[in-house]
Amino acid sequence: MRRFPDRGGDEDESTARKRIIELLLGDESPLTAEDITLKSCLRTAADEVCERLKHVVKTLRRTYRGSHILITIPPVHGVCGHVFMGLREPGKPSGCPKCKSDRVDPPAFKMVCR
Ligand SMILES: [Zn+2]
Repeated sequence: MRRFPDRGGDEDESTARKRIIELLLGDESPLTAEDITLKSCLRTAADEVCERLKHVVKTLRRTYRGSHILITIPPVHGVCGHVFMGLREPGKPSGCPKCKSDRVDPPAFKMVCR
């Protein structure tokens, strides 16, 4: 792995992904993008973590050859109980299709070993 000197701001992308993977591997409970941001000490926004999670899925496929998979735990809407099944993107849904409220919790992520 290439190493970059710490220039006080730039985060090496592969290091960041590795840290996210380690974090998910080390935590039993599901983590939201926000949790990952806080716990990993990465200087990134939750949106960027979502973006990175897409790459993490690919990295997992390559590195662990399917023995570890990242699962998305769909959020349940606190207002109407709607379950956001089948989210394609790791990001937060923009609104509830059932009650039209835009106050929606983000999905959580968990690493599962097979
Ligand atoms: Zn709802």
